[in-house]
Amino acid sequence: MAAILLIEDDAAIRSALSRALSERGHAVQWQPAGLSGLQSVIDDRPDVVLLDLGLPDLDGLQVLSMLRAVSDVPVIVVTARDDDSDIVRALDAGADDFVTKPFGADQLEARIRAVLRRSAAPRSDGPITVGGLAIDARTRTATLDGRTLDLSRKEFDLLHMLAQRPGEVISKRELLAEVWRQPYGGGDRTVDVHLSWLRRKLGESAAEPRYLHSSRGVGVRLLAPPTADDGPDVPGTTADATSAAGASGAGPAH
Ligand code: CA
Repeated sequence: MAAILLIEDDAAIRSALSRALSERGHAVQWQPAGLSGLQSVIDDRPDVVLLDLGLPDLDGLQVLSMLRAVSDVPVIVVTARDDDSDIVRALDAGADDFVTKPFGADQLEARIRAVLRRSAAPRSDGPITVGGLAIDARTRTATLDGRTLDLSRKEFDLLHMLAQRPGEVISKRELLAEVWRQPYGGGDRTVDVHLSWLRRKLGESAAEPRYLHSSRGVGVRLLAPPTADDGPDVPGTTADATSAAGASGAGPAH
């Protein structure tokens, strides 16, 4: 059972969805417009938001970015548009998943369960450190040499995913699937753009990488830069199996 907020102006879709979701045991509230929907996110703290992109007062993408400023609630975008660029923009703006109208209630239910599972995943793992980077999934903060990085939601998710497997090349397809929930590919540019923003915030560039190393045509990996003590041939991660598993900071094992 989840508390679901449906932001949808079409009364027929709204009542069909409300009925289908209520029958599946969910508590459904709805709002017919963007602003009232945002207010309800703040007031009612739903578990999941279903957001129509075509709303009478605000564009759904605007609603999404305003919502993301105040809440981490999972958002599934419901769109009649078959324009992939809208879906990419919605995912970039912080949507967790999307369904395209028309869709079946079972499909929607499966998506809802999936986003709830992800948002309920334990975040008890301690901060991950890779070189001077420390990434704390629990507080969603990252620091570089003790300085807090001002990262967007997706930049943080991207960095966190790479940091969970330091030294491992992770394909853009996998990043798209895991960070953007877009398993169908076709959004390489989304990854590239976010990587370049992330590089800038880490004070490095693709030409002179320190932490973020792209393997052309394959993917990207996060490595600790070599320290002064390392020889010139050391590729430079200090992460061992322990820190790769996210348990860094545990110190010596006795
Ligand atoms: Ca609509």
